Amino acid sequence: MRKKIVAGNWKMNMNLAEGLKFAGEIDRYFRDKPKGNVEVILCTPYIHLSGIAEILRGGKIFLGAQNCAAEVSGAFTGEVSAGMIKSTGAEFVIIGHSERRTYYNEDDTLLNKKTILALGSGLKVVFCCGEVVGERESGKHLSVVKRQLEEGLFSLSEKEMEEIVIAYEPVWAIGTGLTATPWQAQEMHQYIRGLVSEKYGKGCADSLTILYGGSCKPSNAADIFSKPDVDGGLIGGASLKKEDFIAIVEAA
Ligand code: PEP
Repeated sequence: MRKKIVAGNWKMNMNLAEGLKFAGEIDRYFRDKPKGNVEVILCTPYIHLSGIAEILRGGKIFLGAQNCAAEVSGAFTGEVSAGMIKSTGAEFVIIGHSERRTYYNEDDTLLNKKTILALGSGLKVVFCCGEVVGERESGKHLSVVKRQLEEGLFSLSEKEMEEIVIAYEPVWAIGTGLTATPWQAQEMHQYIRGLVSEKYGKGCADSLTILYGGSCKPSNAADIFSKPDVDGGLIGGASLKKEDFIAIVEAA
């Protein structure tokens, strides 16, 4: 059975003290629960990583970053490498979030480079893809996601693909309150799994975790997660509210 995941993307929210307190609360809640089939990941700003890694030690929650540099080391002021992220105790990194693609002009070639560096540093990658509203309205959503995966991921070996989680995030649903219907999510997730199957074989595709992201909240999570190719969620706004995040994990 493939792994289910619910990952919180805190984006640029919470100062250090707030983040440590919040992570401690989430950690305590899940530490006392029996281990289910859902992996929970907190993807925090860089400044929180090492402190939260200490808090999560020995518990059930995993830790991730939201981005990494496209270089290994050197004179790249302000950047944080995948190796540095790994050294904090984090195990995941989000790559290709639509906010990085849009605000920082990250294209598929750059995202492919980052993905290779992250995997090479021992991180697992949550690779985001998804279309903007005009692409969906003009019926191009499938071909856009196909291109993002072919250029961003499909240079990887089958072994490397085992360290990838794909997050389908329609850009028109991120932070907007608009959510893809469960069927829109299922259609795309099934399509993505089919592409992975063509490229890497059915075994690889069947064990690939594909998350949905875009205004997922307690009131819609169970419906979306009930679809056969939806293996959990990447959660932005609702991951900043303890009760909402926990409810979404429990829906998964
Ligand atoms: C995200 O940022 O990945 C996301 C899905 O955000 P939201 O849940 O706020 O739409």
